[in-house]
Amino acid sequence: MKSKSANMTVSITLKQLKNIEYNIIIDNLPKLKFNSKVAIITNPKVAGLHLKTLLANLEAKEIYIITVNDGESYKNMQTIESILDKCFDHKLDRKSVLIGFGGGVIGDMTGFTASIYQRGIEFIQIPTTLLSQVDASVGGKTGVNNRFGKNLIGAFHQPSAVYIDPLFLSTLDQREISAGIAEIIKMAVTFDKDFFIWLENNDLYILDNLKIAISKSVALKAKVVAQDEKEKGIRAALNYGHTFGHVIEKQSGYGHYLHGEAVAIGMIMANALALDLGYLNIDECLRISNLLEKYKLPIKYNIKNKEIFYDTFFLDKKSENNTLVFIVPKSIGGVELKNDINKNIIMNILERF
Ligand code: NAD
Repeated sequence: MKSKSANMTVSITLKQLKNIEYNIIIDNLPKLKFNSKVAIITNPKVAGLHLKTLLANLEAKEIYIITVNDGESYKNMQTIESILDKCFDHKLDRKSVLIGFGGGVIGDMTGFTASIYQRGIEFIQIPTTLLSQVDASVGGKTGVNNRFGKNLIGAFHQPSAVYIDPLFLSTLDQREISAGIAEIIKMAVTFDKDFFIWLENNDLYILDNLKIAISKSVALKAKVVAQDEKEKGIRAALNYGHTFGHVIEKQSGYGHYLHGEAVAIGMIMANALALDLGYLNIDECLRISNLLEKYKLPIKYNIKNKEIFYDTFFLDKKSENNTLVFIVPKSIGGVELKNDINKNIIMNILERF
């Protein structure tokens, strides 16, 4: 692994369906030029901090800025309606391009709007949180929440490019950075032992190191998505820590834990399961929890009612036909999808939290 600058381009090719190919550029934001109308979807916070930088690098026939409220609670159909209305007001056509400029919430809504506006137009992701740079902006999952749960309405719609500029992260608070690091650690445990060892030995609070980690995570995700765009198989491995994490987010009330924080606790729970199944050993479990703790991620949780916790698993859209799927590390750098785990085994794990 290189130790200095990590600027790179990751190419993602989805051959299975339509031979879609796009680049993910990890570098300072380049000059972007369009011969069409462009609408930037963003929120007041990101616009206040970084819109100037984007506009200084953007050239297009016409540029519109569509601002929506900040926060997960606005990731819903009402906001999509309001974005669509503005797209029509501005007379965007089928050649127009949307730019998602913000964190995962903005990215997911921009992608979804692009997937349905006039039956689908092009969009570009310019993610500005660590979580969206290493995860949400890559892979074409788009969507919104409704009262039944998170991300239940959406589409697979791939961006035509992703521009990841780590300099945008300079204004992000430490807790959000750590939440993004949880997804980086997840990626290493799931797919790449060498990367995990590199993470143990390098400090992600140093920008050059963070850039390397972003590049590595994006490359790993791109490889998985290229093999399995619609999560019929290996892409599900990216949900390591999420089966437990989603219950924690729901039980503690959305917003109490950041998504990455809930995933960190979820990884610890999945590791406890791996230990019981004879996959991970104690030493490996400790190495993972030490790495999470190094970035001040939570690793403890107090389950108030185990039965309710268990029942909540079934509300997740990732539980298919009432079968629970757990992503369990076999060792650091490899996971297995288990859908045959007995309730008693799970209750035994929950007992320890
Ligand atoms: P977010 O988009 O809510 O951003 C977190 C906060 O950071 C917001 O207040 C935002 O305004 C602010 N912010 C953004 N950029 C900033 C910057 N540079 N400086 C200062 N503040 C900044 O949250 P997130 O963690 O980026 O994304 C979470 C969302 O991503 C969830 O809705 C989740 O479902 C989704 N997600 C999607 C995928 C996918 O594959 N599509 C994957 C993972 C998560």
